[in-house]
Amino acid sequence: MKLHVADNIKAIVPYPPGKPLDELEREYGITDSIKLASNENPWGPSPLAVEAIQGCLTGLHRYPDGSSYYLTRAVADWVGCAPEEIVLGNGSNEVIEFLVKAFVQAGDEVITSHPSFLMYQKFVQVRGGENTVIPLRDMTHDLETISRAVSERTRLIFLDNPNNPCGTLISPERFEDFLRSLPETVIVVLDEAYVDFVDPAERIDVLSRIRKPDGIPAVVALRTFSKAFGLAGLRVGFGIMHRDIAELLHRVRQPFNINLPGQVGALAALKDTAHYEKTLNGTREGRQWLSEQVEELGCRAYPSHTNFFLIDVRGDATVLYESMLRQGVIVRSMKAYGFPDFIRITVGTEAENHRFVAALAKSLKELGYVAG
Ligand SMILES: *Cc1c(COP(=O)(O)O)cnc(C)c1O
Repeated sequence: MKLHVADNIKAIVPYPPGKPLDELEREYGITDSIKLASNENPWGPSPLAVEAIQGCLTGLHRYPDGSSYYLTRAVADWVGCAPEEIVLGNGSNEVIEFLVKAFVQAGDEVITSHPSFLMYQKFVQVRGGENTVIPLRDMTHDLETISRAVSERTRLIFLDNPNNPCGTLISPERFEDFLRSLPETVIVVLDEAYVDFVDPAERIDVLSRIRKPDGIPAVVALRTFSKAFGLAGLRVGFGIMHRDIAELLHRVRQPFNINLPGQVGALAALKDTAHYEKTLNGTREGRQWLSEQVEELGCRAYPSHTNFFLIDVRGDATVLYESMLRQGVIVRSMKAYGFPDFIRITVGTEAENHRFVAALAKSLKELGYVAG
């Protein structure tokens, strides 16, 4: 083939093609593996969502409602804002893409942190924009350096809060100072994929911020049904923003970006407070217990405001990952994120957490990483 591939596309490193769980199990000769690698909800989807989705299937021959009328209203009620201030996406990932499409042209700059969620930079590359990447400081966003890196060409700043993979948080006070240090022309995107797990007293009041007084940069908050709501496979997320920004994002949105099961499933999940509370409580208890166990094994567990946390295993994390995989426990090595001795694990169910601890103990011993 003789193709003229765009230079910015040539430069993109493809998303590593992960294998399906079944395939991995076959390869390693294991069964009943547990996956604690992707920060998913181990208690499954809301039963109410499953029921609603089953109920909608006979309507699949019709296009879904292009405005997601009912879901948008339900999300706005849940957040406490107007429907005009919500934009739904095929996962919050799609809302990231809308923002980049609407605001970034070739040569424009976008600031992100490293390590952080990788998709921000990817969408910018596709668009021919420039990524300015600022390292985290003490595992948190280095807001002072980010502020200094802003130029006339900066359009967006992405901050995952809490940060993935570190689980750390920006305090409301620091965030306020940060906003006041920026020119009015940039948009600050707060990716709040894990905000459900954060103590309400420590959350940033994004609603007062999206209706900004003049002179302060616009804030867009991103939320998702993929984590606390247990619907990662359904692909529904949303952004909360000033209605003028929402109007711009609707221009780049495909009319049917939220499919029919997505619309009814997410709507039902919002009403399932029992499942939501169970997830939050189980996560809090599991994280506490796991951290204690991990420290007893001689590793260091980092505090986190999310359903995942980092562990310093005091040895090569990728070798440990392989060793645990052979025991059917899938974790994430942080080597590619710049932490060669760290793994990231997602809090599982009680049974999964016990299996994880047993497997970690065995692997650490076999590899001789920690004494004992
Ligand atoms: C998991 C995650 C998301 C969720 O993306 P969806 O497209 O909504 O599934 C977004 N941001 C961060 C930082 C995440 O870790």
